[in-house]
Amino acid sequence: MTRKFLELYWRLPPALQTVAAGAYGWRLARRRYGPETEDLIAEMREAERLAPSARDARQGEQLAETLWRAARSVPYYRELWARRRARGVRLPVERLESWPLLTKQEVRAQPEAFVDDDAWRRSLSVERTSGTTGTPLRLYRSRRTLRARYALYEVRHRGWYGVSRQDRWAMLGGRLVAGPGAQEPPYWVWNPSLRQLYVSSYHLRPDQALRSAREIVRRECRYLWGYPSSLTELARAVEGAGLGYSPEVVITNAEPLSQEQRALIERAFRAPCRETYGMVELVAGAGECEAGTLHVFPELGRLELLEDDFASAAGEIVATSLLDADMPLIRYRTGDFGGPLLPEPCPCGRTLPVLARVQGRQDDLLRARDGRPVGRLDPAFKDDLPIVECQIVQESLERVRVLVVPAHGFDAAAQRRLAGALRDRLGDLEVVIECVIRIPRGPNGKFRACVSTLPPSEGLAKEAVCSSRF
Ligand SMILES: [Zn+2]
Repeated sequence: MTRKFLELYWRLPPALQTVAAGAYGWRLARRRYGPETEDLIAEMREAERLAPSARDARQGEQLAETLWRAARSVPYYRELWARRRARGVRLPVERLESWPLLTKQEVRAQPEAFVDDDAWRRSLSVERTSGTTGTPLRLYRSRRTLRARYALYEVRHRGWYGVSRQDRWAMLGGRLVAGPGAQEPPYWVWNPSLRQLYVSSYHLRPDQALRSAREIVRRECRYLWGYPSSLTELARAVEGAGLGYSPEVVITNAEPLSQEQRALIERAFRAPCRETYGMVELVAGAGECEAGTLHVFPELGRLELLEDDFASAAGEIVATSLLDADMPLIRYRTGDFGGPLLPEPCPCGRTLPVLARVQGRQDDLLRARDGRPVGRLDPAFKDDLPIVECQIVQESLERVRVLVVPAHGFDAAAQRRLAGALRDRLGDLEVVIECVIRIPRGPNGKFRACVSTLPPSEGLAKEAVCSSRF
């Protein structure tokens, strides 16, 4: 959407904004859902209880087919194998280990080279990532892939919690549904085609969050969906005003959910908070079931972990597309850190693989003085520190800067406790605390609890790679 179009939209009266959003939503709904949706949903639901051996066998066949097809009809990979043949390198195509790891930069540099030759004939739409770390990534999608993806979300991101796309719901996200400087509501738009109240995640100052919450109540939304950081701001407003609003479930996406955020959201809304994991590249995804277990979705892709932290068996998530046949990415480094895989069966009865946790993006991970990855530092802030929000910026292995939005009572003693809690976990490094009015959000309005600006050489020792299958 162009800036000019947006400025025009912001000037429309709310009723016409709803008409515009409805027209946009109608197009989205037509692309996402079709006559095949219900069959796809039934098939995916059935797959949740397959015996693990049957699932492995099915995934193995799909993977071999994907690899053979990519080597034959995806330009980037066809050239890779041609170069290998020219050099006399003989490796089995159907084995994942024969394929190199793929970085985001390579896909970003020439996205069209990853589109299957056979897919060009169909009409592909282009999706862009939010470009959190620089240039957005362009991804090409057929309607078939989109419908499978949205059927999967319907089953695992809604169905598990007893809600559906037919229910009225509120989405908190980074679309610019209100002008950046808008002081007065609406900071939202009602989209009748998707039965969705879209609430701007950029307009969540306490007074704005309360007005948005009142609109959510007025619209009788059955569930909430959004970034944990935005939902936390909404939860604070709801709790502070004593608003008696209790949806069926609160679903989080796009950022890792900390224990503190979960506790606040569940307390304020008196509803379960469920975490989801996914990415626009569509190579991997996971969702939390009713029992609180994070299940991997094997339909999306074959996952590997590049183990970086051997003690915890967690590592960077690397995945190979299985659902998206139009633009297959093989051994794609997602930049997300998670794991390990747990062998225990889940009390919910589903046999989908279980992932202990997703800790967030690789460049959001903090490292101790000795270079060891420490992950996100939720426990550091459990000590009842009077903090509204904070962000840790790691500038070197010797120094972190902490941006703090202080609550009442954030005095010198509290600052010493915060620095102490960080040193307990990161080692003896310099802690610089800066009080700010608000933590700046990244592109798309996303909040990052930890930001690392360490050069890659101080980060991962990538030679020490071993991969785990799951
Ligand atoms: Zn489960």
